[in-house]
Amino acid sequence: MIFYKTDEEIELIRQSNLILCGALAAVASELKPGITGLKIDQIAETYIRDQKAEPGFKGYRGFPGTLCISVNNQVVHGIPTDVAFKEGDLVSIDCGVRKNGYYGDSAYTFGLGPLSDEHKRLLEVTITSLYLGIEKAVPGNRIGDIGFAIQDYVEKNNFSVLRDLVGHGVGRSLHEPPEVPNFGRPGKGIVLKEGLVIAIEPMINLGKKEVRQASDGWTIITKDLLASAHFEHTVAVRKNGVDILSDHTIIEAEIKKNKNIEHLSINIPIFAPRN
Ligand code: MG
Ligand code: MG
Repeated sequence: MIFYKTDEEIELIRQSNLILCGALAAVASELKPGITGLKIDQIAETYIRDQKAEPGFKGYRGFPGTLCISVNNQVVHGIPTDVAFKEGDLVSIDCGVRKNGYYGDSAYTFGLGPLSDEHKRLLEVTITSLYLGIEKAVPGNRIGDIGFAIQDYVEKNNFSVLRDLVGHGVGRSLHEPPEVPNFGRPGKGIVLKEGLVIAIEPMINLGKKEVRQASDGWTIITKDLLASAHFEHTVAVRKNGVDILSDHTIIEAEIKKNKNIEHLSINIPIFAPRN
């Protein structure tokens, strides 16, 4: 069953997402070769608890961290470790936050420079595909319109879209119906209606789309061991268009100040104003 949200609930989900993006911004200001996943996990947890909110992933089905940290050929669901990041790493960081009973869910992949041209392009294509998907999350469109926009752009750029994992509804639960695939056909799937809140989260592989689970029981890795990227926003379908509830601009402001993180050239489409 899909839970459509009231305006008040959407504001609570926005609040959780803004705290989450503040935590990712705190992480972005510290991220550099030599720092470990466990250290940035601690930075994020401290930030979230200081805002009187809870990490949304910690304890979720036994997950040990505040962040999912997935490096290079790890796609998603990586566990924070004491291994230090190094130059050239693609560090995908996914975070959940719960406050006032509502979740936020957002992810960003940081490239510790210098990156290869191919890896930089993977990040740019993945983040652009996220916004092309978001652009379709308007009333009257269907769920397949979102997936098609993402898949079409990614495949035209010769990268591949995971089939095994998808986006989802967000609200009182971290994962709610409906599923939001990053692939699909236009005009197929449920009709998007006002009050629908979903996480759109393309997971895009440099090589083939196939993945498997690592022996830790959590981390998803590419079968061909080539790199993967992941960007995610929580968005609400509103009467007059789409409303992005998470805010990557505060993360990107920190990236601009951090010379260890590669700056991406992204051409983000401009959407209709809120409400
Ligand atoms: Mg997420
Ligand atoms: Mg998600």
